[in-house]
Amino acid sequence: MSKKRKTPALACSFCHRDQKEVARLIAGPADYICDTCVELCWEVIEGGREQARQEARIPLPPPKTIKAFLDQYVVGQEEAKKALAVTVYNHYKRINASIDNLNVTIRKSNVLLIGPSGSGKTLLAKSLSKLLRVPFTIVDATALTEAGYVGEDVSSIMHRLLDASKGDDEAAKRGIVYIDEIDKLARKADASTNGRDVSGEGVQQGLLKMIEGTQVHIPIASGPRQAVIPTAPIQTDDILFICAGAFTGLDAIIRRRLGSTVIGFGTDKSTQNTQPSTSDVLAAVTPEDLVHYGMIPEFVGRLPVIATLRAVSEAELLSILQHPKNAIVKQYQKLFAMEHVDLQFEPQALEAVARKAIEQQSGARALRNVMESVMLDIAYRVPFLPNVRSCTVTAGVVLRGEEPLLSFSSDKQRTTDDRI
Ligand code: ADP
Repeated sequence: MSKKRKTPALACSFCHRDQKEVARLIAGPADYICDTCVELCWEVIEGGREQARQEARIPLPPPKTIKAFLDQYVVGQEEAKKALAVTVYNHYKRINASIDNLNVTIRKSNVLLIGPSGSGKTLLAKSLSKLLRVPFTIVDATALTEAGYVGEDVSSIMHRLLDASKGDDEAAKRGIVYIDEIDKLARKADASTNGRDVSGEGVQQGLLKMIEGTQVHIPIASGPRQAVIPTAPIQTDDILFICAGAFTGLDAIIRRRLGSTVIGFGTDKSTQNTQPSTSDVLAAVTPEDLVHYGMIPEFVGRLPVIATLRAVSEAELLSILQHPKNAIVKQYQKLFAMEHVDLQFEPQALEAVARKAIEQQSGARALRNVMESVMLDIAYRVPFLPNVRSCTVTAGVVLRGEEPLLSFSSDKQRTTDDRI
């Protein structure tokens, strides 16, 4: 009797179910895979892709939360904060949509901040990058030159952003570039000397493509002289450009345009029917005013969001001293607390600091200088006096260099010697 040889059933090499148990069995050169295992593999692959997408997405709080975050650091400037919150939200929503391959076209919105020195322009931009945890770099427009001239050409901006992202070019591509003193690039009537563009108009031209979105080739190697310096391409489409400047004299252009209607449009009732403040006038800026000022129309066209910041008032200076998360007063108090000394400032002392800062005409920037000159000697000596418990800074200290009020505790076991 001849024994019939049983042919081995074909089976899935992954789940080992045989041919009869599965709907489809796909043959490879040496193995087989069933339809269920193919689906399972597909889910695993998609899951990995989704995770990569999740990781690439910028966690995006709604505009209200963005503004609330900015409120912790920046006093006042409500309109600018709102404008930035919405712009930043839309900017990163646009990036997340492209990561998700959603076919939506949201126009790239770069920002122009107009406001006097020390009003919080840089602080706003820096705080945003902190919230979003994206690389941030500050560029001084006056240091930029057209390609071919000696100096920093515009492609160096990308180099800086790459540095800020510690070489992570994926992160750099979604960073924030803050271009300060952009108003200094304004075209002037007597712009050209020996064909050299001294007005910065050429730099405006150079910046156009970059802020709109292009591929910039940045040199990646320095060292021994090479005939051709290797470059790496970096795409600028998803970089948020925030340009900023004081635009001194712009208010005169706006006043001229507004003519007689300028009288009485002040937001503050007490100033109505008088000359509106420079801040009120600047708030009415249009792209045409900027072109009048000397910015080239193509450049202005690439900054669709214009936000103006107001000169900080004395009340705001007082608040800046005390309330933001990293307020100067809080910083000094922390330093003294580390030496177990309770540092206090009388309200009149802070008012005197604010008034001194106003005299320096550099907005809130002057606060730190004034405070440092007031506190230098005190911080040098007082925490190290034996048994000192508290130190109160009075107006006399700020205005006349008097001694602060000190209190001592007898039980404090410290001596000057072991401290200094
Ligand atoms: P700008 O860029 O407008 O010239 P900055 O943002 O660099 O001014 O501000 C200079 C300093 O003044 C910063 O250190 C910041 O702490 C402080 N400052 C300016 N404006 C504000 C504000 N509105 N709220 C809180 N701090 C401010």
